[in-house]
Amino acid sequence: MSTQRIKFRAFGFILMAGLVLSLALPVLAFILSSGSVQTASAQTACQELLAPGDIPSPVLINFDDLANAVVIGDHYRPSFGVKFENSGITQALTYGNEPANAASAPNVAINNAIFPNTSSNVPMVIDFDEPKTHVGFYMGNGDNQQTVGLLTAFDAAGKIICQFRHVPVPDAHTEFIGIYDPSGSILRVTWDYGSTALSESIDDLYFSPRRGIAPTRTPEPTWTPIPSAVPTQGPTPTSTPVIPMMPYYPAPKAIIKLPNFSIDLAIHGIEITQGIQCFDTSKGLSTCPDNSLPVATQKDSTARVYLKLSSVWSSKVNTVPVRLYIIANGVTYTANAYGNATKTIDQGTTDSADIYFNVNFTNNVPVSFYAVVDPDNIFTESNESNNRYPASGTITLNFQKRDTLKIVGQRLYYHPSGYSGNQYAQGWAVNGGAADWFEQVLPIRNGAVNYVVKSGYLNWTENLSSGDSQHDLIKTLNAYWILENAFSWWFSGTFTGADHVYGWAPNDGYSGGHADMPVYPHAGGLGVVGIGTDRPGTNTDTPGGGALIFGHELVHDYDVFHTDTSDACGSNDGNSDFPYGNSSIQEFGFNPYTGKIYNPATTHDLMSYCPANGSKQGWISPFTWNKMFSKLTPGLINYQLSGRTPPLMTFMPSVTEESLVVNATIFNPLYQPAQPGLLGELYHIEGGAAYYLPQGDYAIELRGGKGEVLYSQPFYTDFKSEYDGHSGTPTNPATDPPFSPDPTLQADVSFIIPWVDGTASVALTYLGETFDEHSVSSNPPQVLITSPSAVESWQRGSQHTLTWQGLDVDGDPLTYSVFYSNDNGLSWVMLASELTNPNYTVQTDSLAGGSDVRFRVVASDGVNTGLDETDQAISVPNHAPEVTIMNPVEGKTYLPGSAVILQGSATDMEDGTLPESALAWSSNVQGGLGTGTSVALNVLTPGVHTITLKATDSLGKTTSTTVSILIGYDIYLPLVIR
Ligand SMILES: [Zn+2]
Repeated sequence: MSTQRIKFRAFGFILMAGLVLSLALPVLAFILSSGSVQTASAQTACQELLAPGDIPSPVLINFDDLANAVVIGDHYRPSFGVKFENSGITQALTYGNEPANAASAPNVAINNAIFPNTSSNVPMVIDFDEPKTHVGFYMGNGDNQQTVGLLTAFDAAGKIICQFRHVPVPDAHTEFIGIYDPSGSILRVTWDYGSTALSESIDDLYFSPRRGIAPTRTPEPTWTPIPSAVPTQGPTPTSTPVIPMMPYYPAPKAIIKLPNFSIDLAIHGIEITQGIQCFDTSKGLSTCPDNSLPVATQKDSTARVYLKLSSVWSSKVNTVPVRLYIIANGVTYTANAYGNATKTIDQGTTDSADIYFNVNFTNNVPVSFYAVVDPDNIFTESNESNNRYPASGTITLNFQKRDTLKIVGQRLYYHPSGYSGNQYAQGWAVNGGAADWFEQVLPIRNGAVNYVVKSGYLNWTENLSSGDSQHDLIKTLNAYWILENAFSWWFSGTFTGADHVYGWAPNDGYSGGHADMPVYPHAGGLGVVGIGTDRPGTNTDTPGGGALIFGHELVHDYDVFHTDTSDACGSNDGNSDFPYGNSSIQEFGFNPYTGKIYNPATTHDLMSYCPANGSKQGWISPFTWNKMFSKLTPGLINYQLSGRTPPLMTFMPSVTEESLVVNATIFNPLYQPAQPGLLGELYHIEGGAAYYLPQGDYAIELRGGKGEVLYSQPFYTDFKSEYDGHSGTPTNPATDPPFSPDPTLQADVSFIIPWVDGTASVALTYLGETFDEHSVSSNPPQVLITSPSAVESWQRGSQHTLTWQGLDVDGDPLTYSVFYSNDNGLSWVMLASELTNPNYTVQTDSLAGGSDVRFRVVASDGVNTGLDETDQAISVPNHAPEVTIMNPVEGKTYLPGSAVILQGSATDMEDGTLPESALAWSSNVQGGLGTGTSVALNVLTPGVHTITLKATDSLGKTTSTTVSILIGYDIYLPLVIR
């Protein structure tokens, strides 16, 4: 008996409608809200900006650091490169007498015309030291007389780039205007109220940050000043009223069977699942009502309709039609499917009629369901009035938007002494299989995981067999991630955006996994870092240990504990709040991407040890699903929503111009009272970035020449083991993992704090006692890359050694970090750090490709830094995508006319997870079948089809993979069992 499945989703015409709508709305808003007219400059595609959120990573001047009535002039020039006119004609002043009318209280900036002493036709003039792509501000001080504001942007030659008018200018500073010039040529803007006596007035000047130091490749960088956290909120998401659906198809004639005896058909219930759902309390969790688990928008979902048979003649009727009605935003969608009617519910079989759908709304939306069995009355029933379920009304679930994740995979070059196994992490899990599985198991939308394999290999020579060495790897990955973000901010004005870093080790050397939960902060990973084996699976239905451990460790990063159950799958974690008596997933799981059913008798929660060890199947329980659903609430840990208060463990711009990256180790006084703590590598960087830890009794102090404290940043850490809950006694010594419950030897921390000019030393303190102190020498180090020095084209399979010379006039020992950009200097990743030798060997194939790739070497003398960049273009070959077909599986047979769901994905070294448009499906019999990660079809003709998924990266490089399936009748037996 084959399952009849209908999927409705992603059909061209509906998708188009959604696309047009989502494009149309912002345009509509543009026209209606501003009433502005572009008056000049048809030659550039200049655009008006309507909100600060239209400016990527903007720099902000809010004028509130000055007193009232101060001439602004060059005040912001040293820090921001912005100058306000201060001439015999006019000057800009701060004005703080009407704080309620400011965009940010108290001050705004007003134009104070001097000659001819009227603002009539005297604009406010703002100049920038460096050309900008974006400039904008809030306008005010108009009146009720339709004051016209005219914003004009000029280039270096003094030519007008473009102009925008805004009518009327409001009195309070409530409306925003700005200009985007794609050529990035804005050097001056003027703001003019024309021939009125009103003073031009603005507040909160936003503009684009300087992008890196790439153009001149000067070895002497200048800092990128970013003064304050800017709470930019994206545009309000608009609902796309689309549940793309498959058109109704008539039942194949052979299926219709009209019995000559009476039966009664009804519906046991409808289960709405995205992976796990509570359903049928008689068998699952008795305390969890049907369909009570939360569901996410834009995630593949399945309605499993369980058809009920009452008959004295038979126990099952196969291939019974059912029609499902789905109501969203007032629109009703219908889908027809078939299932087998049975006397009792059995979620473990394919008897249910399964309807695949995707609530493709970007906002939260309630969706209602009901179903009618035998809707066209092809069966003669003893009772025709009980075919609707529920009998009246609907089942309604609120589909909610969840967060997305960016995960960076860091491969290890693993070669401890005496190790003879595989040295380079690689394979199916590393190349995207694990990320695919993780996305399917979590309550997040399709495509929510953006997974990127990072360039290079992390050189690792420490044996990972002990917990301490695993902590050391976590600490290193965390420290490097923080350093990479700090330098990324300095170099490019952006953060990497990675939510997680996952360290992949070859399975020969490390078959387990480890994570650092924020509640046990000793390893320094702080909810970011997981590490684990690269043990491969074959597909997402058989993901293998590498993918299971990947998911397990990354869920730990959200402070989710082990199951701590007394079955052989538990761990000895006394802090666990896992509520069930065993580590089973408790309810039937179902994967809407592949149709796989997970039986709770043989499936364990991914936070238990059974699937992590690979001995049993892993999936997600209702408890873990609920927990992750709330952890992935959009914006929950987004600093932009928390106002100006510096949040914890989030990268953000700081109020200072320069920063200090701190690494420190605190030793447990129980073990090492003589050596309480040490400062590690410190990096004084340009660019104001911050990343704070929770505050506690430890502190980093910046001290002046006389030992005075210029700045103090407290922080918290402790030595608590994640296995301390049972006081050293495993629940089941025979089966529990042998991890030490003892407090850890040390705790490692990394963070970024503001730098203060005049700092002569940096100290690590505890309750006022100094543990360690590093002095800051007077001169920064210098570095000069000596090779490569010419234009080079690196070939596949080659390796190359970078060499450089370091110099420090203070005689300090130097360490080096190596950074890599494959996009002409726009973004940078760190390949290595804390190198002591002046050279580093890279493997071409490990690098994301590019036609003008660059390396930077940063020298550190322990605090001060200096850098150099390769001088000539180096080319590295572009990688082809890694592509996976998740469904259908090889060799599967489908009935003609039944739904075949094509599921696949692709990752790419250069592009990360590829978009839907990059995935093209075809059949050797019927040609093109559609594009996207998911395509549902019922039109495949009888015969053997070779189904191909071809993925194309942004440079046109393609990879294809195939499966063969049979469309045919050979297994079809239309029977009514007597
Ligand atoms: Zn674990």
